Amino acid sequence: MQGPELKIRIRIWKRLIKQLKARGDQTRESGAFLLGKPDGREISDFICYDELDPASLNSGIIIFNGDGYIPLWEICRKKKLKVLADVHTHPGNWTGQSGADQRHPMIAQPGHIALIVPDFAAKRNQLLENVGVHEFLGEGSWRSYRETDRIIQLIK
Ligand SMILES: [Zn+2]
Repeated sequence: MQGPELKIRIRIWKRLIKQLKARGDQTRESGAFLLGKPDGREISDFICYDELDPASLNSGIIIFNGDGYIPLWEICRKKKLKVLADVHTHPGNWTGQSGADQRHPMIAQPGHIALIVPDFAAKRNQLLENVGVHEFLGEGSWRSYRETDRIIQLIK
């Protein structure tokens, strides 16, 4: 069984944060699936929710239609990648999970990691400080980590 530790290059993280910020426009949540090689733990690519389901951001909180998984699996197949984690933004600095976040894991597989970025990802130089890290354990339960637990690391 693989541990939950994930790595992501700073360059990709910054590109991701920029996209989340732009798509949320500081008024609504946005999010993305984080992809990597099936046998690895490094996030090497991402795809934003609204690229898969254009209406997913419209209500202000993310409501991702199940049809959006069809193009997602197609992209994963073509690129030979799998979903390692997901990320979404919250307004303000609270990065705990909402009831809906807990009830609806984007990928309902034990070990799946859900990240939550504060302030609609609009903070200057947003790295991992204060990013919520939550691991799905199965059957509706989750474990949350602190940044100091180093579950996700930025690498050069
Ligand atoms: Zn949330």
